[in-house]
This record gives sequence, structure tokens and C-alpha cells, in this order.
Amino acid sequence: MKKDIHPDYKLCQVSCACGNSFETKSNVETMRIDICSACHPFFTGEQKIVDAAGRVEKFKAKYNMAK
Ligand SMILES: [Zn+2]
Repeated sequence: MKKDIHPDYKLCQVSCACGNSFETKSNVETMRIDICSACHPFFTGEQKIVDAAGRVEKFKAKYNMAK
């Protein structure tokens, strides 16, 4: 590798919207993510709608589909 042209590869604290957090390596120190391997439906096997801005609720309200 060439000297002095590469960004720092340091420990990175990742925190997910579900409350899970873990460490990895990156060139930033912290990361906030919406979904991780602990809450992603692919890994949990549960059906889940990934909805960050309440758009699903708005849709349900609009078409009277709220439970
Ligand atoms: Zn998560």
C-alpha cells in the first residue's frame, strides 16, 4: 500500500434503530443504521415492514386499513 493516501481503518461502533449495537472496522468512528442482522427479516424469519418515516401507517390510515 502507498503511504499517507489511505484513510484510517479504525474500530467503528455501529448502533441500530432496534437497539442492537456492535463493533466493526471502518474509516468512521460511529454509524447509525436502520436495520441490522439482529432485526432484519431475512435473519429473524419474521415478516416485518421496514418503515422509517411512518409511510405504511399513513397508507393504512388513508385506506382505513388500520387494525
Ligand atoms: Zn437492528
